[in-house]
Amino acid sequence: MDYKKYIKSIMDFPTKGINFRDITSLLEEGPVYHSAIDELAEFAKSKQAEIIVGPEARGFVIGGPLAYSLSIGFVPVRKPGKLPREIATVSYEKEYGVDTLCMHKDSIKPGQRVLVTDDLLATGGTIEATINLVKQLGGVIAGVAFLIELTDLDGARLLKEYDVLSLIKY
Ligand code: IMP
Repeated sequence: MDYKKYIKSIMDFPTKGINFRDITSLLEEGPVYHSAIDELAEFAKSKQAEIIVGPEARGFVIGGPLAYSLSIGFVPVRKPGKLPREIATVSYEKEYGVDTLCMHKDSIKPGQRVLVTDDLLATGGTIEATINLVKQLGGVIAGVAFLIELTDLDGARLLKEYDVLSLIKY
């Protein structure tokens, strides 16, 4: 399917010079959203994924239905102060300052095959931090899946050792 035609591009959002790729216009189209999840689910299945991990907030919109469709679990990765049980944390450099992501420490079993997903790959900082959390907990990266990859930012250079699927590339 030509998913690209369902993505709206908004110039100068959230700041001047950024061409923001808006996935909400794709999510609004039920059959298109469904088909995108189905494709990502086929990929996850082919990699024998046993659990899905996705960062807030748009990683939930992909990871949740993906886990549901495969009847496997979903683990949220969140900003500090949101998860109630014991957590593992990772900090990473963003364009302006440092960000921290958290995961429940007991959410992944050692050796478990994990499909990591987010809506969009840009510089790769978010997904790299998410992968580092999964590895801290002993998970094995079965694959990495995105709706969109912004190829000029070359986040893929951080994912060379993994199997990656992006449904749309800019
Ligand atoms: P990265 O960490 O630089 O790879 O940025 C990826 C994260 O930022 C993802 O969680 C995205 O949700 C968000 N993001 C960055 N650029 C865009 C965009 O153009 N559209 C939607 N989300 C974006």
